[in-house]
Amino acid sequence: MGDIILEIKDLKKYFPLADGKTVKAVDGVSMKLYKGETLGLVGESGCGKSTIAYTVVGMYGASGGEVLYKGTDLAKKGYKRTLEQKGEIQIVFQDPGSSLNSRRTIEKSMEVPLDIHDKMSREKKTERIEELLEMVGLPKEYKSKMPRNIGGGERQLISVARALATNPELIILDEPTSALDVSVQAKVINTLIELQKKLSLSYLFITHDLSLMRNVATRVAILYLGRLCELAPTTEFFHAPLHPYTQMLLSSIPVVTEEEEAIKPGQIISQGEIPSPVNAPKGCTFHTRCRDCMEICKTQMPVMVEVEPEHFVCCHKYKAKEEL
Ligand code: SF4
Repeated sequence: MGDIILEIKDLKKYFPLADGKTVKAVDGVSMKLYKGETLGLVGESGCGKSTIAYTVVGMYGASGGEVLYKGTDLAKKGYKRTLEQKGEIQIVFQDPGSSLNSRRTIEKSMEVPLDIHDKMSREKKTERIEELLEMVGLPKEYKSKMPRNIGGGERQLISVARALATNPELIILDEPTSALDVSVQAKVINTLIELQKKLSLSYLFITHDLSLMRNVATRVAILYLGRLCELAPTTEFFHAPLHPYTQMLLSSIPVVTEEEEAIKPGQIISQGEIPSPVNAPKGCTFHTRCRDCMEICKTQMPVMVEVEPEHFVCCHKYKAKEEL
């Protein structure tokens, strides 16, 4: 699958609470991101997707595990990221309204990363901002507008342009279209796909919208209560989902075409609510909602096994290919 740009190993992020309890937001996640691919990280609200993103970009320190970027562990205690590393990993947030300063023109907001990473003259800076706007399909005149005077889709494209200012190699897209009207979501997605091809970018695409991943992701990973359930190449993921939770999610996606209908698992009624990460169930954390639950599931946590090349699943129903 090519070179690995990012590898997360047994990543943990715990938040202590005032009453002495702990929220295990991310609890032992391991995955690789290959150069030039889009890895879709999918799960319900509160499953730990954004916590992984913030730990990778350094907004949170890790409670345990490694975040290996090009082989260097960025999460190691005491390790200070270089300016170059900070520029190479960028993030685009869900709400462009709050990630852009409402009292600054687009140009002023876009100058910030340029001033930090790439000191340049006034003229060069203006030239670069116009070039970045053009890269995301916006006219250069947009630089003098205020965020409130443009649409949500355009604001998100400006957030993407600002992320590109430091010539990143890896961009974390944290629900980049979920705050947008459906009519502008496609434009933002198409721009991201074009930019990826043109600039050989790698994306960690965080979303709760599984159907979006069918057209965007190279591989899809499913997260539940801070742990990975399944990770597989996109085609295999949609044709042969293995984990009961993945099957439950896929069965609830509305389908349009006959082809989609043919591969959709039969209707699986979602049981129960997602438990609190403060009090995660023992054994398999999904056992309280799983229709296939066995006795072992209530006491023993399953481990991730590779059932087919690059297809991983964490469930007692499956064994690693070499064990069969
Ligand atoms: Fe269901 Fe057991 Fe698999 Fe968990 S380990 S998903 S409870 S079958």
